[in-house]
Amino acid sequence: MRRSSTASQSCPNEACDGKDRVVLHGFSKVKWGRRRRYRCTACNKTFGATTGTAYKRLQHPKVKFDRVAAMSVEGISKSAIARIEGLSWNTVSRWLELASALARKFNDAKLRGYDLEELQLDELNTFLGNRNQKTWVYAGIEVSSRLWPTTLVGPRTWRNTKTFIRRIADSSEWAPFP
Ligand SMILES: [Zn+2]
Repeated sequence: MRRSSTASQSCPNEACDGKDRVVLHGFSKVKWGRRRRYRCTACNKTFGATTGTAYKRLQHPKVKFDRVAAMSVEGISKSAIARIEGLSWNTVSRWLELASALARKFNDAKLRGYDLEELQLDELNTFLGNRNQKTWVYAGIEVSSRLWPTTLVGPRTWRNTKTFIRRIADSSEWAPFP
């Protein structure tokens, strides 16, 4: 068994400061084979390769999950994706929820201190669920880089508008409220 430190794994324990002190800890059995488990020698916690990722407890190959996310980004509907991949609509919907939640988390953590050259703000009128519930999508895009710093969904109020602007200001070098 390999026991070397694996550079590709870092400790998912947020309170741990020994992120790179991870060793192989054996294997766990899953339906279609086995998965590696790891142990952090700093905090002694064990975890799997998919802990904290969208692949955790996934009953399908990872590439399938990736394809579903990619198709959605290209604008393909959930129903069409479900037909193409032979999945239920509910599974596609659940995977996309998960993917977007993690993408949001990634953006919140990594999207910091960028420059804004030209910020284009839009609010789009849309409907939720039953078509009677009108709502607004606030979207901001940095024109030169096509960076999409944030999105907010909700009623068109001064409070939401301010929250939206504040979020962009907090993550970028821009200071709209001196
Ligand atoms: Zn640790």
